[in-house]
This record gives sequence, structure tokens and C-alpha cells, in this order.
Amino acid sequence: MKLSIDEQKTLLELATTLRNGEAAPAAGSKAQQELDAAKKEHARLVEASGSAQLAVDDMELEILRIQEDERKLRRRAADDKVQLGAASDIEQRRDLEHDLYAAKSRIADLMSELQEAHNEIHALRNNADLCAQRVKEDQKKIEALEAKLAENDSAATAADREERIGELREELPDEILVTFDERRLENGVGVAAFNGRSCGGCFIVLPPADLSAIRQAAPEEMPECPECGTFLVRNA
Ligand SMILES: [Zn+2]
Repeated sequence: MKLSIDEQKTLLELATTLRNGEAAPAAGSKAQQELDAAKKEHARLVEASGSAQLAVDDMELEILRIQEDERKLRRRAADDKVQLGAASDIEQRRDLEHDLYAAKSRIADLMSELQEAHNEIHALRNNADLCAQRVKEDQKKIEALEAKLAENDSAATAADREERIGELREELPDEILVTFDERRLENGVGVAAFNGRSCGGCFIVLPPADLSAIRQAAPEEMPECPECGTFLVRNA
């Protein structure tokens, strides 16, 4: 293949740019969308988790209130009993007995309220734990997506690369591009630099006879690597 030295360099850059691009994956905006959705979901989960914890706190306060009421009522019942032991007046005894009965019945009510509150707080705590767990899992999801996005930061450079490939192709004659594309399809390289000893496509160090043939070829001639068929650019 014959090509001016400048064009050889252009062709080499094209081949190198194409090879560099093959490893990089595309898809930046999709990951960004997923991340935005995950962050929205995260805000919702954090709020739900906060409400669940608030419900637990409220119920704990309610339990403390019931327990405090119960303590007061038991003190009152104990007082009533002491006074009953000393009182002889019928009217006074009737009042004390009535008060003792009222206190005992209120204590019984409180005990069932307390039982209910304990059942309820158990469920509320489970719910709060579950919410906190979801927040944690969502946080992990966000971190994974952010890592993925950082990787895909090369998406912008991928677009730049596409543009550069277009520019380079514009600078080269069509028949050269056809030959290059064909050779590239065959061996995955097409064109590579020759460093004086080995081929930049297959990296095989060539025997002296091949080396001297390559060195002696006319400057605008692009010799082929006898091993892989890649067109070689000298003095690249
Ligand atoms: Zn080769």
C-alpha cells in the first residue's frame, strides 16, 4: 500500500484510535438516570424511616406514661389500705373502700393498655428496623451506581473519539480506507507502527531478512508484516 508519510501517520492514528475505543463501553446517561431515581427513592426511604422511628419514640413515651400512672395508683391503693386499717367512721370507710376499688379497677385497665402498647411497640420496632435496612440497601445501590458512573466518565471521551475518527477518515483517500478496513477486519489491527525490530500489531520480532526488506522499502510504501499482514508505518 502506497501513501505519503503524513497520510501514513494519519492512518496510524486512525488505527490506534479505533483500537483504543474497542475496550471502552458506552452508556453514560442511563446510569445517571438510574442514579437519580435511586437518590429520589433514598430520600423517600429516609423519610419513611424517620416516621417509623418517631412512632417508636411516641409509643415508648406512652409506655412510660402508663407505668407512671400505674405507680401513682398503686401508691393510692396502698394508702387507702393503711387508712382503712385505722378508720372506724362508716362514712369514711365507705369512701376509702370506694376509692380503693376505683384505683384497683383503673390499675387493671392500665395493665391491659400496657400489654397492648408492648405488642404495638414490638411491631413498630420491626417496621423501623425494616425501614433502616432499606435505607442501608439503597445507600449501597447508590454507591454502586456512582462507581459505575465514574467508570463511564469515559463516555464523553468516547464521543470525542468518534469525532476524531470521523476527522481522520476525511483526511484519507477512499481506496486507502477500503484496503485498511478490509485488513483491519481480517486481523483486528490493519495498520501499526514498526519500531525497527518488531510489528506493532502482533509484536513478533521479525527475522533479519524481513527487517532489512522493511527498512529498504520506499518511504511512501507501507510494508506488510510477514507474520500478521498488518501494514507497517515506519518512523512513527
Ligand atoms: Zn505483525
